Amino acid sequence: MAIPFIKEFEPQYGELVRVSPLISRIVARNPGPFTFRGTGVYVVGHDEVAVIDPGPDMPEHLEALKRALAGRRVTHILVTHCHSDHSPAAKPLKAWTGATTYGFGPHGSGQDDGPKVEAGGDMDFVPDVRVKDGDIIRGKDFTFECVYTPGHTSNHMCYALKEEKALFTGDHIMGWSTTVVTPPDGDMADYIKSVEKLEARDDRTLYPTHGAPVTDPKPFLAAYREHRLDRERQVLDAIRDGLTTIPKMVERMYAAVDKGLWPAASRSVLGHLIKLEREGRVTNTGGAYRLAA
Ligand SMILES: [Zn+2]
Repeated sequence: MAIPFIKEFEPQYGELVRVSPLISRIVARNPGPFTFRGTGVYVVGHDEVAVIDPGPDMPEHLEALKRALAGRRVTHILVTHCHSDHSPAAKPLKAWTGATTYGFGPHGSGQDDGPKVEAGGDMDFVPDVRVKDGDIIRGKDFTFECVYTPGHTSNHMCYALKEEKALFTGDHIMGWSTTVVTPPDGDMADYIKSVEKLEARDDRTLYPTHGAPVTDPKPFLAAYREHRLDRERQVLDAIRDGLTTIPKMVERMYAAVDKGLWPAASRSVLGHLIKLEREGRVTNTGGAYRLAA
């Protein structure tokens, strides 16, 4: 089942653009292989607003945010997770506005055995309010429900806007691409469970941080989950055919993909292998993977 990716998305950098009655978006100029056209910062509400994932700490972006939010009162800052393209602008935004910040916790806080350090993580962000699954955040014109979705990172939180049956999915679900699941903070078993969690919900529109909204969530999510299970089957097939190392598996599984993405692909394959090892389906002896007897 091919994922029905949405690739059409031409942002007006630095401009606040209305995308629904309650939601506007401003895109930062930080395009790249993992950020697509850049970080989409969502502004929810009318005169009193919540800002979701304020974005990277870039002077041009901070200036644009300031301009866009002039005349409105920012009461809430919601953070989906602590990657450098999502959370760092929370600090300056809080400094100007005095808004309260919300998130699951600092980077790595969803790990059982304490925080881990990885490249790209924003280690500085600590929310004023630590939210957990099912918590409700109320503002003047909006009500959010917190939906805990570990996998991409261990502290990843989605936020459901009740008034519009909209779900802000951060990097958990992206319309234009699959997401990176990088161990140790990323966890493939958690990730797949968190996709299934959204499949059981009834959200009308998904708003990822990168790219266009997903307006038909059910088939999209099903394809997204199937894609991971396909990759898992490919890993098992590769091992069965005697490819015992990650580079060999990547070479076969990602033959059609640009080699520049192979390092990220290796991390995803590692994510699958950790899951399979934990499930007792694969063994690892000195970096050589074999099917469990
Ligand atoms: Zn991320």
